[in-house]
Amino acid sequence: MFTSQLDPAQRVTSLKSLANEDFDILIIGGGVTGVGAALDAASRGLKVALVESQDFASGTSSRSSKLIHGGLRYLEQYDFKLVREALHERELMVTSLAPHLVKPVAFLYPLHEKYRERTYVGAGLALYDLLRGFQRALPWHKHLSEKKIAEIAPSLRGDLINGAIKYFDAQVDDARHTFSIARTAVRHGAVIASRVECEELLRNGKRIVGAKVRDLLSGKSISVSAKVTVMCAGVWSDQLHENFGINPGYKVAMSKGAHIVLPKSAIKSDAGIILKTTESVLFVIPWGEKWIVGTTDTPYKADRTNPVASPEDVEYIIEQANRVLLPKITASEIIGVYAGLRPLVANAENSNTTKLSREHIVDRPAPGFVSVAGGKYTTYRVMSKDVIDLAAKDLRRIVAESVTDKLPIIGADGFFALQQQVSQISEISGLPEASISHLLNRYGSLIYELLAIVVEDKNLGEPLTSELPYLKAEIIYAVSHEGAQSVDDVLSRRTRIAFEASDGGESLAVPVATLIAPILSWDAATQKKSVSEFIKHLKSERVALIKILAQVS
Ligand SMILES: Cc1cc2nc3c(=O)[nH]c(=O)nc-3n(C[C@H](O)[C@H](O)[C@H](O)COP(=O)(O)OP(=O)(O)OC[C@H]3O[C@@H](n4cnc5c(N)ncnc54)[C@H](O)[C@@H]3O)c2cc1C
Repeated sequence: MFTSQLDPAQRVTSLKSLANEDFDILIIGGGVTGVGAALDAASRGLKVALVESQDFASGTSSRSSKLIHGGLRYLEQYDFKLVREALHERELMVTSLAPHLVKPVAFLYPLHEKYRERTYVGAGLALYDLLRGFQRALPWHKHLSEKKIAEIAPSLRGDLINGAIKYFDAQVDDARHTFSIARTAVRHGAVIASRVECEELLRNGKRIVGAKVRDLLSGKSISVSAKVTVMCAGVWSDQLHENFGINPGYKVAMSKGAHIVLPKSAIKSDAGIILKTTESVLFVIPWGEKWIVGTTDTPYKADRTNPVASPEDVEYIIEQANRVLLPKITASEIIGVYAGLRPLVANAENSNTTKLSREHIVDRPAPGFVSVAGGKYTTYRVMSKDVIDLAAKDLRRIVAESVTDKLPIIGADGFFALQQQVSQISEISGLPEASISHLLNRYGSLIYELLAIVVEDKNLGEPLTSELPYLKAEIIYAVSHEGAQSVDDVLSRRTRIAFEASDGGESLAVPVATLIAPILSWDAATQKKSVSEFIKHLKSERVALIKILAQVS
């Protein structure tokens, strides 16, 4: 009945619906929690709208470590409920909800001490494996011999390491996963628009009856009528509570986490590595032909929209990784850097953010207004379900139970079969097998929509750049199907070129703008503006890198 396409025409239709229809639920925020809530509500048969002030996933949901995990360190905080819940979600995503996007990944836990540490960590990992219950999509952990460690990870310092345990978690392109959920919600009837900001709430006496939102592209204000407004604004929650004159039951503290991106050649290992630090943990995560290394955990109070890594963040990450790596990684090898803000539900004044619980809170501070904050990317579905359960109480009618644990996101259907048909698809399409595998792991069964673009114009089957596997057709698709509206949307989130390319994608900004301009009906001036906005944003993101490289050269 509904398509999942997010394109300029769909946005126009959505804006009309926002102005003219009455909704059961209006969601503020298009991060993973908000789009998850939109899908949860739409799939219960509710009439739902969602507004996102920037691009989908442009907040924390594109800036995480991209792990779908139980969180080993929460075991040390005895947070077994959170670990068990997250492992259950991991299992669901890898096996049925999003197998095309959520992939198992092996990690090594290096041991420095032969007996006590091995017993302690081994017991922790056994508990980690046990907490997932009877589900077994990922292999059990394994103690490795020194010979095996040297084979798997030659870069791990043999002189310092006294063994290692291999265990499994999963990883995802967070931004891609988030807007795939947004598209799934649209397919189930949700009305969704990005670059629409919620400015104030509409009231009828004490009851919230919707919100005044502004289309940031046209500047027009729209009053959206909704029985319940659901705020999923992550680190923006405190600010919005204040703007809306709402007295909430919780506060959200912000903690900044930075990552650096390195070429595969910088670290010789066939598995990721997890390192315990004094504050937290450091992950060395395989990311295609790159490594993502992070993260930091520092209290933060500045600009929420563009958090950037500092030179100290980058130095800390290099220093921690080099505790166990040989050859050591150097600043000059860094390709990219990014930072994000954790929305931590504050449990006490002046508490140390590292120790705050990652569990989420749902709140109903006013009739017709509910919110959710905290949690982890991994548990988005549970957060989304919980907040819609609470919103449903305000609808004062019987509302169906959540079905999102049985609802695969778009592209998931048939993925396991398609994975085995790479050579046939390659033959039919004329694209190399490597490109087919690349497309399948990003679009799943939606690959046919991409291939249709290549059928129309063969040139679009070519790579955008020789440095990375993205095809030109993906740039077109980002705008025609995935809701991208700027060069930054395409280079930072629909693809991850902004942290994967050695120049951050600066040299690709003009070619990308040229490809997308006709679909967005851009004139030359708009095209130029989008390019220069991306380059300005890129330079601010890479400021730490530029400073550090200046110091070492
Ligand atoms: C460095 C780091 C590493 C992490 N690593 C992991 C990990 O490996 N695994 C894991 O499970 N979790 C991880 N997390 C946590 C996870 O990323 C977050 O919990 C999750 O992304 C939060 O999603 P959200 O939707 O609640 O918030 P967000 O993604 O921030 O979404 C909130 C949205 O609200 C929008 N908004 C704000 N104001 C308005 C308004 N007025 N109108 C409309 N929209 C508005 C914003 O633009 C934003 O898009 C990590 C977090 C960080 C910072």
